[in-house]
Amino acid sequence: MVAHLLYSGNLTPPGFGTTIAGPQKPASTYHGKGALPVVSRVESMLFSRPHRRYNPLKDEWLLVSPQRTQRPWLGQVEKRPPAQLPQYDPGCYLCPGNERAGGQRNPAYKGTYVFTNDFPALLPDTPPAEYRQGDLLWAASERGTSRVVIFSPRHDLTLPQMPLDDIRAVVDVWAEQTAELGALDSIGYVQVFENKGAAMGASNPHPHGQIWATEHVPTEPAKEQRAQARYLEEHGSCLLCDYLDLERALGERIVFENDEFTALVPFWAVWPFEVMLVARRHVGSIPALDDAARDGLADAIKRLTVRYDNLFSISFPYSMGFHQEPADGLPHPEVHLHAHYYPPLLRSATVRKFMVGYEMLAEPQRDLTAESAAARLREMSETLQH
Ligand SMILES: [Zn+2]
Ligand SMILES: [Zn+2]
Ligand SMILES: [Zn+2]
Repeated sequence: MVAHLLYSGNLTPPGFGTTIAGPQKPASTYHGKGALPVVSRVESMLFSRPHRRYNPLKDEWLLVSPQRTQRPWLGQVEKRPPAQLPQYDPGCYLCPGNERAGGQRNPAYKGTYVFTNDFPALLPDTPPAEYRQGDLLWAASERGTSRVVIFSPRHDLTLPQMPLDDIRAVVDVWAEQTAELGALDSIGYVQVFENKGAAMGASNPHPHGQIWATEHVPTEPAKEQRAQARYLEEHGSCLLCDYLDLERALGERIVFENDEFTALVPFWAVWPFEVMLVARRHVGSIPALDDAARDGLADAIKRLTVRYDNLFSISFPYSMGFHQEPADGLPHPEVHLHAHYYPPLLRSATVRKFMVGYEMLAEPQRDLTAESAAARLREMSETLQH
């Protein structure tokens, strides 16, 4: 078989001829070999609170939230979610007027509702602390907060079933929350995301997303930010603006677009029906979206999630989230707002992709091409079929 080269640009592989800066290393309290410092008290305080740990093999950080072991789990264990949910569930801790696991009661909210997670992965009052043994054992405290964003008072609705105006209200809440949390001195990044469906770990079917705000830029957006900064430096233009121009010229991985957002299956997609929603006008954050762009985002979310639901005739599970500029008050011309959708389903409502074996140990692998996935999604109706 001969591979046909469709595009031969001067795309430089990441890292070629460039020194990539690693994650910022906080000042260490201990560098030497010799006598070990007394760390046991620091250690026990640090390790029982939210903190980040450094993996020297991967040169990456991860977030550890040891205080969250009491978290309730209401996730479905059956493969197919129940077809019919009630509009109101007296046992649901997200429904209006109900008591939550932490003992607080939700108000009788009529639209969206935001509250601080009763079992937060991050805490705002985490005292600063660091533990380090040379370059091998390294941990630092991490301040932040986790909030829950309820999309609708209706227990039985998901985003694709919600009216456009109500989805637009969710976009506005994401923007308000990003601005509010990002303005805090202790916050350096605001991660907006949604886990939909028990298959992706959602602990409650009531439509909701989450916002975790952290002191540091987390690993995934930090990686992408560095890559975008490097591209801007080398090309004098924005990576995602250039990528969007290229994909729109080629067309084969575009699912649909409106005047403000393009939905495409990225060339390098890992999950079978992975999609990126990319802002068509260069913008760095959700709060920076103007009125028309927010309408465009709501429209794109509705159209994408309806297509997803139609694909296997079920409420389609996914993890999605936005990548936006850090909340450090500095200009970030390199960062271009986008959302990633990572759905696990491969062939049907019950056949999912697992990231195991080779993917855990070597690198991600996929059978379905990005182009075929985009073609399948393009064929789907934008009216809910079930
Ligand atoms: Zn509910
Ligand atoms: Zn751009
Ligand atoms: Zn991203």
